[in-house]
Amino acid sequence: MMPAFTPEQDGFREELCKLLCEDDVRGEIARSRRMPYGQESGLLDVHRRLGKLGRLAINWPERYGGADATIVEKAIVTEEMIRHGVPENVHSLGIDIVGMAIHLFGTQEQRERYLPGLARGEITANVLFSEPGVGSDLASLTTRAEPDGDGWRLSGRKIYNMKAQHSEFALCAARTSTGPVNFFGITLFLVPLQSMGVVIEPVWNLSEERFDLVTLDGIRVGPEDVLGEVDDGWQVLGKVLPLERTGLDHSAKAERTLAALRAHAPPGCEQRLVELETRVRAARLLAWRCVANLHDGRPDEVHSATAKWYTSETAKEVSVAAVELLGPQALLDARDPEAIADGVFDAALREAPGLTLAQGSSEIMLFFVATSKLGLPS
Ligand SMILES: Cc1cc2nc3c(=O)[nH]c(=O)nc-3n(C[C@H](O)[C@H](O)[C@H](O)COP(=O)(O)OP(=O)(O)OC[C@H]3O[C@@H](n4cnc5c(N)ncnc54)[C@H](O)[C@@H]3O)c2cc1C
Repeated sequence: MMPAFTPEQDGFREELCKLLCEDDVRGEIARSRRMPYGQESGLLDVHRRLGKLGRLAINWPERYGGADATIVEKAIVTEEMIRHGVPENVHSLGIDIVGMAIHLFGTQEQRERYLPGLARGEITANVLFSEPGVGSDLASLTTRAEPDGDGWRLSGRKIYNMKAQHSEFALCAARTSTGPVNFFGITLFLVPLQSMGVVIEPVWNLSEERFDLVTLDGIRVGPEDVLGEVDDGWQVLGKVLPLERTGLDHSAKAERTLAALRAHAPPGCEQRLVELETRVRAARLLAWRCVANLHDGRPDEVHSATAKWYTSETAKEVSVAAVELLGPQALLDARDPEAIADGVFDAALREAPGLTLAQGSSEIMLFFVATSKLGLPS
């Protein structure tokens, strides 16, 4: 069953929808879809506007730019942003991962330094975890933090991260010590990105949003830039990543593509549409169950892995079905005047493979469910 929303939460959703339907917001979203590949500056304006209205980090305390709301209102913001076509990566990286990590594990000084600016959309942050050849097996990362006075110097290469080109700082995982257990000896740092010793290069891919390769060349960080305990970053990662892994972003993407498909599908597709509708509803249900678990203080890693796997695979299935049902015209992108539904199908199809990889790939999610829940041997 879907969790029941309170009348206040329904009202909040309605108010947000009105805001996201305003002409200038819609105009900004439409303009950004037609920008040259890899550019998206207009969307940052939408992000800042939501920040100014206190909507970006609504579940943070008021003193840090939030509105003391719950994770349910926060999830409503994510769902409606995506339903209205606002790519949510800036939001999910800066607020849901980096901001939440600082909120939960940062010092008072770090919270005051970063959270209000993030919440207002004045600054953004990204995540530097993956490295060339190091993704699913993150514990084998090789970026080094060498002691330097009371601080460290960071050297290494981080790849497949997003939004580094817009971000003021990053949450970066680096190795501070080595030993027999890979998980120990990783430390999380808050690293300024607009500084000497940081080189950001684009890595082009299939989707509308580029990856970055970030090279850290001996960049200095101080003790005030360590998030959590030195050598114990794995513990923080284990608590922060499941908070983001609800699948709600993927289920909302699947819903958006399906809504456009319903509007454009030729006659004779009803059976397929009903099947897709059933899957998309199940995906949304799984995602909201995750949010409800977090709201009740009962995070469930197995459920969240299940939701991540099912919702991202569903988003992919809907995008493939749209092209099968609509034909080649669905492959025209938003910049083409002949594109159907503003190129939504083409964008969804190109984004879909990445959804099943980011935040933990489908195979890793299934492996986790099989070994943790079903007790299969690892
Ligand atoms: C859209 C997108 C956004 C991203 N954003 C960020 C970001 O902001 N910051 C960041 O640091 N990283 C980011 N990443 C990187 C992401 O975390 C990695 O792509 C992911 O962890 C997978 O790692 P990999 O690409 O090295 O693939 P690999 O780990 O090499 O996996 C390759 C394939 O092998 C499979 N595989 C691997 N190990 C196993 C196993 N033990 N059993 C079965 N199958 C296995 C995987 O499922 C996958 O299909 C992003 C990736 C994408 C696609």
